[in-house]
Amino acid sequence: MVRAIDSPPASVNIIPMPSPLRLLFVSTPVGPLGSGLGGGVELTLTNLCQGLRERGHHITVLAPEGSKLGNISIVEIGGQLQPTAHTQGRSTPVIIPGGSVLGGMWRYARQQQDQFDLIVNLAYDWLPFYLTEFFSTPVAHFVTMGSLSEAMDQAIQQVAKQFPRRLGAYTRSQAETFGAETFGAETFGMADAFAILSSAIDLDLYDFCPTPGSALAWLGRISPEKGLEDALEAAEIAQAPLKILGKLEDGEYWRTICDRFPHATDCYLGFLPTRELQQVLRQCRALLMTPRWVEAFGNVAIEALACGVPVIAYQRGGPAEIVRHGTTGWLVPPDNVPGLVDAIASIDHLDRHACRHQAETEYSLDALALRFEQWFEAIIQTV
Ligand code: UDP
Repeated sequence: MVRAIDSPPASVNIIPMPSPLRLLFVSTPVGPLGSGLGGGVELTLTNLCQGLRERGHHITVLAPEGSKLGNISIVEIGGQLQPTAHTQGRSTPVIIPGGSVLGGMWRYARQQQDQFDLIVNLAYDWLPFYLTEFFSTPVAHFVTMGSLSEAMDQAIQQVAKQFPRRLGAYTRSQAETFGAETFGAETFGMADAFAILSSAIDLDLYDFCPTPGSALAWLGRISPEKGLEDALEAAEIAQAPLKILGKLEDGEYWRTICDRFPHATDCYLGFLPTRELQQVLRQCRALLMTPRWVEAFGNVAIEALACGVPVIAYQRGGPAEIVRHGTTGWLVPPDNVPGLVDAIASIDHLDRHACRHQAETEYSLDALALRFEQWFEAIIQTV
């Protein structure tokens, strides 16, 4: 039976440093770090590396050519980028383009594996899961999205079966999307095969703003699963200005949005780096999160909280685990625009100080690094 690793408390005082680990992080092959194509994984990887380095670990990051990761050095690999998993259907076979960056990264990982205590995969792709058993250095997988395809589900189940403890996820709701699996005589929820690791932010980069302007914010990749149209509709009904920030990932979807809401182009401020993003975000009355899918986490939620900005989100997936309903935000029945409008009318009941406080107590880099460190130690000890 595969068991979950209990998450430690979010705030911990003095934790002894273990011996430094040599860690190889293999990034997502859908785009260079810094491009925004990787979505929240980019911020998670940045924060994880920073937190683990501060705890004395040696970090190497493998990522597509053109990547930037603050002051962390990267081994860049060229090649064809991978199509994003969320744009494929559930029964789509595995796609790996010729000369793929994914293949190149895992070739490098295999050649250099003896230099590392652990390899950590952040790609939501079939190949690294399949390759796990062919590596002599253990490979851990931080799974960054919920269940999207049969091929990926099977590859993830196979790892759960052969290598207990090697799977990590952001949230329990995300892990539950992987359903149940039968091993021998026992059937168990796949969620129990994952270490639940949450996310974090560098709180020093986000300034608290007690007195916002009149605008609402919407942040994220502009792609159908993010449901931007609901935020635009709700803001229109509530007669509140909306600021849209994020990577324009799906041009056709954006055109449909602009046909329906011609003022959307005026609301769109582009894809901004973290410092500029928080300057806009912190002046907003609330963040709207309107995903159509089970959002694995939603890094934008904790970025908003860190600025003192309450979060109005559909009640499913990661945001439903983050938002404290009635204190740091409102949770609204999924896909319900009138519910969003009611929540917008009740923003003033929420406490911006409580938002910042939640970010400080639950989402610090140190707590994140500690959770990952304990997961890594558990894996290394069982090899
Ligand atoms: N983001 C950004 N600039 C922008 C808008 C968004 O850097 O202008 C980043 C944001 O900081 C967050 C990511 O985009 O880290 C979106 O991640 P999230 O976890 O919310 O969703 P995902 O894209 O992973 O589904």
